Parts: sequence; C-alpha cells; structure tokens
Amino acid sequence: MRNIAEVVSCLDGYDPNALHVDKAREAIGSCLAPVAGLERVATRAALGRVLAEDVVPRLDVPAHDNSAMDGYAVRAADLRPGGETRLDEVGTALAGRPYKGKVGALECVRVMTGAVMPAGTDTVVIQEVVRIEGDSIVVPAGQQRGQNTRAAGEDLKSGVAVLKAGRALGPADLGLIASLGLAEVSVRRRLRVAFFSTGDELESIGAPLGEGQVYDSNRYTLYGMLSRLGVEMRDLGVVRDDPALLEAAFSGAAANADAIVTSGGVSVGEADYTKQMMAKLGEVLFWKIAMRPGRPMAFGRIETRGNSAWLFGLPGNPVAVMVAFYQFVREALLRLSGRNHDLAVPLLQAISSQAIRKVPGRTEYQRGVLFRDGGEWKVRTTGQQGSGVLRSMSEANCFIVLEHERGSVEAGEPVQVQPFEGLT
Ligand code: AMP
Ligand code: MG
Repeated sequence: MRNIAEVVSCLDGYDPNALHVDKAREAIGSCLAPVAGLERVATRAALGRVLAEDVVPRLDVPAHDNSAMDGYAVRAADLRPGGETRLDEVGTALAGRPYKGKVGALECVRVMTGAVMPAGTDTVVIQEVVRIEGDSIVVPAGQQRGQNTRAAGEDLKSGVAVLKAGRALGPADLGLIASLGLAEVSVRRRLRVAFFSTGDELESIGAPLGEGQVYDSNRYTLYGMLSRLGVEMRDLGVVRDDPALLEAAFSGAAANADAIVTSGGVSVGEADYTKQMMAKLGEVLFWKIAMRPGRPMAFGRIETRGNSAWLFGLPGNPVAVMVAFYQFVREALLRLSGRNHDLAVPLLQAISSQAIRKVPGRTEYQRGVLFRDGGEWKVRTTGQQGSGVLRSMSEANCFIVLEHERGSVEAGEPVQVQPFEGLT
C-alpha cells in the first residue's frame, strides 16, 4: 500500500495547515478500503449489516400470475366489447388453492386476491360489477385485457440481482430476502473500533472530581455515536498525557482493531509530543482543518504486531468531537465497514429565522433547531456556540452548515441544514 502522505499530497489544493473540509473528507476517503471478512447470518440478524454479496433471486416473485382482486378470472377474448357477456362459473381459486382445470370458452372461475390465475384466463373482473344469475355471471362491457392481475416476477425476477453488495440492510430488504425463501445471507464482519480519551484533567464517572478535573464525557458521546454505526467497540478508558502510556495505549489498540478513535491531544500545544510518538508507531498526519468547531485532527495508520488500524485523532472539546465524528469519522467507518453508497448525510435547505455571524474561509457547523413555521421549515441556533458547550448538541436537532466561502447570514436567508434524525 502506498503511504498516506503520498496519496493525499496528490489531491489538488491539499494544504494540511488550512484544509478545506471537502478536501479532508476526500483525503480520508482516498486512503480507505473496506476490511476483509464475511460471515453468514440468519436473515433477521442481518438487519443493519452490510451485504457482502449481491442477492440474486433463484425464483420469480410472485412465482405465478395471480389475481390482484376478489372477482372472476375470465378470458378477455370471450368478452363482447359493446355489451354484456354471460359466462359459466366452473370453479373457485383461492390464495394457495389453485383451480386445477383449464378454463374453456365462455367459462370463468371465482378468484380471490392472490389466487393463481387459472389456465386459460388472463383477466379479472371485480365482483362488485358482476351480476350473478344462477351458475352464470353477467360481465358488463368495458373490461380491459389483463386488468386486476399481477404478473409473475413483477416484484423480483429470477437471475436479476436485487440487492447489491455494499448495502446496509433495512427492514424492506429483510422482507425481500425472506420473499426469496432465503434463511441466511452473507454480510461483512463487523468493524472493530477501539476508543479512548486522553487528558491529565479527566476523571471517569463514579470517582469524585479532584481540583481542576472534569469528567470524561467524550467516551460517552463516542460510545453513543459508534453504537449507532453497528461496530464492535472496545472502550480503553482514559489515558494520561504521558508519552509512554499513550504509546502503550495506541499500540495495544492497534493490535486488534480496524480503527481507533481518540479525543484530545491533537491541539497545537499537545500535538508535538503526540507527533513524535506517532511517528514511531506508524504514519499519522496532523491537520488543521478550516472548520469550526473542530480545527485540529490527526488521521493515519498505526501498526502493531502485523495488524494495522486507522487512527482518527479528534480534538478534545466535547462539541468538536461530535462535529468531527459526524463530518469525517462516521463516513470513514461506514466505508471501512463495506458500505459503498448513501454515505453522506443529506443537506437540506431551511430559512434562517435569525442573523448569524460568520467569517468566510472556514466551514461552520452551528447547532440548530429546525422548526416548522406555517408551511415553511425554519432554523435558529441553539444560542451559545462554544466548542465546550455540549448542551448545544443536546438541544439541537440539526447542524446549520455554513459553507467555507460564506459570510454572515441575514434573517430570512436560506441555509443548509443536516437533521440529526436519521443520522447513523
Ligand atoms: P485538548 O484538545 O486535549 O486540548 O482539550 C480541549 C478541551 O476539551 C479541554 O478543555 C479539555 O479539558 C476538554 N476535554 C478534553 N477531553 C475531554 C473529555 N474526554 N471529556 C470532556 N472534556 C474533555
Ligand atoms: Mg488534552
């Protein structure tokens, strides 16, 4: 594999000290390839997993032409175009109970929804328009050939791939797989992600807080965000800002993880010793991204005992951790998991209900509240936007994404938003 520095330096406009968010995303994306490893799982257990092989039907669904309504299966050729037609009722077909005989001229069969179309018939006349006269029925004029029937294979066709490898399976997909009679599917193995927090000031929950200390909240937000991605997690706790301890933590994590996510230790003041230590362990780039919050970030690869893990070194500030995770790490982990489409979080438009100050030259991810005002979707900020104000994330239901070139926003201007709902 080419080294990371070589790959990213080929990207137009790559500047590690003022990296455009799109460039950072592109740089990460251009390095990553899905992890190898498949497993067979029962259909239900495949929910949310990434399909490893195309699902190719071995049968048509539905398997037979069948009736879409309750009524009478008839031969369109028998029907008089200009007037009524009298037909003899020769039998009944129910869903799962086909009519065994062949339907001849001026005959019909009573059918229920889902019943296989009896041999010889091609059209269903709904029961509501038919007049019953003894053992015969009278069909009014105006019926169309083929009406009220469902063709074999109209849902799924034998031999035509229906679900492609690289797709995360949703509820409808489980249903499709079941409709093909498949009890198991091949999925990618789950990605293994190790995470820890760094900082001398951090205390874990459950212990009393010493002077100048803060509780480690980042491992909890990371836990939450990683859980939603369906990865296997290893929580390695808090690691002190001590080169030897950090080195041990990184190399231990790399021994059996596909990716490592850390918080803290990448800001300018702290990056120097982290950089030296990382240089021993693998190849890690330190970036200053033109964004707010979340400017510093490390990205690279760490190797231990023949295993190599991708590293995402996020800033320490609690909001910056979440923003950097959602803007870069989420997509990267999905890609490593084998997902190959629908990776980006959708950007929608809403009207800003207030003025927002912004300087051009960086992308800002303000925390917003999307609300409905009459027929229109509007958005306001959650107020104080400091990168330590985690409450802003909790109160928000979206990011307000203010693009790199954009300056301040006037009230009433459209802005882009990324709703949190549905964010995996
Ligand atoms: P750093 O990036 O390590 O310089 O940290 C920046 C700020 O985020 C400091 O105020 C830290 O105390 C705070 N911080 C770092 N890590 C955590 C954490 N795990 N939980 C809560 N706050 C943190
Ligand atoms: Mg720190």
